[in-house]
Amino acid sequence: MARLNGLEGPAGDALAGRCPACHQGRLFAGPVRFAARCERCGTDFSQYNVGDGPAAFLILGVGAILVVAALMVDIAFEPPWWVHLVWIPLGLALTLGGLRVAKAWLLGAEYRHAAHEGRLVK
Ligand SMILES: [Zn+2]
Repeated sequence: MARLNGLEGPAGDALAGRCPACHQGRLFAGPVRFAARCERCGTDFSQYNVGDGPAAFLILGVGAILVVAALMVDIAFEPPWWVHLVWIPLGLALTLGGLRVAKAWLLGAEYRHAAHEGRLVK
């Protein structure tokens, strides 16, 4: 099992950006671009397609959290309108910062469940 600051398994792999097969090789060739294959075990990452799923989940999740936080701040403190501008950079930072982890998590899930595109049986 992979270890990263005490985290093992899929969460540790996703946070560290490690290969879901060997838990040691690097999953990414760039900030959010997958490597073609694992440098340690040779797992082909190009066969997995996470698409826009991680970005969509992040936008929806972060958006929901920020809307609730904005409403709570507004109800509790009744600040001037410009205070709510803080939610824009915060939303961008959380979404872009979490994209790498979300992509790694989804690719790891596809690997663990042997997911692939659906095919019609002939
Ligand atoms: Zn590997």
